[in-house]
Amino acid sequence: MTKFKNIDSLGALEGKRVLLRADLNVPMKTEEDGTRVVTDDTRIQSVTPTIKALSEKGARVIVISHFGRPQGQRDMDLSLEPLGQPLANTTKLPVSYIDDCIGDEVVEVIDAMEDGAVLLLENVRFYKQETKNDPEFSAALSRNADVFVNDAFSCCHRAHASTVGVAELLPSAAGLALEKELVALEGALGSPERPVAALVGGAKVSTKLDVLTNLVEKVDHLIIGGGMANTFLAAQGVDVGASLCEHDLAETAKGIMNNAVAHDCVLHLPSDVVVAKEFAANAENRTTGTNDVQPDEMILDVGAISATSLAAELESCKTLIWNGPMGAFEIAPFDAATVALAVKAGELTESGSLVSVAGGGDTVAALNHAGVADKFSHISTAGGAFLEWMEGKKLPGVEVLLAE
Ligand code: AMP
Repeated sequence: MTKFKNIDSLGALEGKRVLLRADLNVPMKTEEDGTRVVTDDTRIQSVTPTIKALSEKGARVIVISHFGRPQGQRDMDLSLEPLGQPLANTTKLPVSYIDDCIGDEVVEVIDAMEDGAVLLLENVRFYKQETKNDPEFSAALSRNADVFVNDAFSCCHRAHASTVGVAELLPSAAGLALEKELVALEGALGSPERPVAALVGGAKVSTKLDVLTNLVEKVDHLIIGGGMANTFLAAQGVDVGASLCEHDLAETAKGIMNNAVAHDCVLHLPSDVVVAKEFAANAENRTTGTNDVQPDEMILDVGAISATSLAAELESCKTLIWNGPMGAFEIAPFDAATVALAVKAGELTESGSLVSVAGGGDTVAALNHAGVADKFSHISTAGGAFLEWMEGKKLPGVEVLLAE
């Protein structure tokens, strides 16, 4: 099991200045009077236990985050100031704010903080040095603190000053949410209970090529659904009609299928599909074998026979990793296979026979749609970082927290 440093490894924190990297890049909307309000506080909720734990230990908690893409400019439409109150609401602690993240004034304010207090710094991407992992900027950030805690898994695939640079300069650790995430991911792909199934769906093979390439070498069952299954079917000579399909990736798909055989990975493609002539809710549709798709028809979901047999396959598995929907789940009735498999995975997890880990924006939306998100063992809201983890890449923000 990979060992990384956690908050306990930092020792006593009373009176210590803790720089806490959060991901406060949350969805917001601007009201008519110009106020910016949070529309989804999942990421604020996620960092809340760490802020509370650090504060209870008597640390001075200095929260740092990026917001949007200000391109190294001070852009008050991307200020973190409006995040102070939501943070205060979830932590039930007073949260003060300062309009910068480095410099003498920031250091003075931090020096005057009481133990247990929480301070929110301004958007770290107002400095272009942040995304360049500039050593001088990292040094300036590290002047704010005695120790560094990263609780933003969603930012760990980027080697930036506030994720990697500062961690190289200060004693560092993973926060509670990051620790939970890393333990769950390690359990799913690092040293999982077998058999392991990966369910990969979504629109295109091209965006998940590295994911598929990595998974065929690691998992026992690779279930491919969504638009990307069409590319694999077409590579096998199936006429997919007007379906979304990347015909130019036929050779790549064949390579993945051959690699699966070489690694004893059973690759599952649908044998029946739901087809329609238009991509619209409640479009007239029919379920048919993959050998009977007409030129003007699009495959929009995995058929019921395949979904049932895949659900039965999950019963024999101990671990499931899921990214991407099985069909065009946003429009009924093409959500059926996604919902059926999500419900099955939720039931098996609840009964204790399956460890289920899912991640990625659309996947979280699909599992919420199926009403089973809370039944999964772990759901990652990180997009890019979760995919890079599925690709088998080392995440620089995590590597820097590994115990020697
Ligand atoms: P991704 O972001 O790659 O996970 O793709 C998610 C999107 O793939 C969703 O918006 C789905 O509607 C879409 N999708 C899934 N299956 C299909 C399909 N068979 N045809 C077209 N789009 C699909």
